[in-house]
Order: sequence, then structure tokens, then C-alpha cells
Amino acid sequence: MRRSALPALRHDAPVLDARPFLGYFRVMHEMSIVTSLLSLVEEELTKRRLAKLLVVRIRHGALANVIPEALSFAFEALTQGGPFEGARLELEEEPVILRCSCGANFSPEQRRELLFAPCPACGERLGHAVEKGRELYLQDIEAE
Ligand SMILES: [Zn+2]
Repeated sequence: MRRSALPALRHDAPVLDARPFLGYFRVMHEMSIVTSLLSLVEEELTKRRLAKLLVVRIRHGALANVIPEALSFAFEALTQGGPFEGARLELEEEPVILRCSCGANFSPEQRRELLFAPCPACGERLGHAVEKGRELYLQDIEAE
């Protein structure tokens, strides 16, 4: 299946390591992502006249503000007892790409200083734009 972007699932929230806050609100955030995702999957299956969903693959940028564990939890909770029960969710993280004001594009190596990583071309640490890394894509689905 061709890669379909989910523009409605873009996140521009600030970067934070939300792991310690994993709880009701975090899970609600992931629930709404998975809900949109499943309706898209349902549409695709209807279009292709397939009944049984096997695997859903998602690619997400490191800055997409999603917690993989919370996404998996939401996916399981929302598919349980329904037509998609037993389907597997696979997640793949996509590297962040920054654009420096000098025009160079680069991928920061250390996660800790992500947005302030020095530009390999000119050394600048400030003012980098996020070229890639905030998106969440439905990569493909397997069904029969
Ligand atoms: Zn630069």
C-alpha cells in the first residue's frame, strides 16, 4: 500500500520527555490519534474489500509528541472486541532533520540537544527550523 500522510495528526507541541507523566491525559492524546488512524484504516479496507486487519505500520518523527507505549496501549484498547481485534501495531521512529539558517540540512546525532545541535556546515546552534520530525504517517497496512 502506498504511504498515506495523515495531515490531521500533525503535532507542533513543544518537545518534552513525557514518560513520567504517562497517565490519563497522555493516554487520551494517543487514544485520539489511534481513533483517527483506525477510521482511516477502515476506509482503506472498505475500498479494497478486505475484512481482516493484520498489521498497521506507523512512522513517526522523534518530535511528533507521541509515546510509543501509549500508542500501543491505545491501539489494543480500541481494537479489543471489535472487527480489528488481534491486529498488530508496528511503530518506527523517523530521524529529525533540521535546517540551519546557512541553508544546510542535517540530522542531529544526540537526542539530548536535538534542536540546539551545532550545524555541521557552520557551527551555529540557534535558529534551526524543523524540516522533518513532527509528522506521523500511516506507513502501510496488511490485511486479507
Ligand atoms: Zn549552518
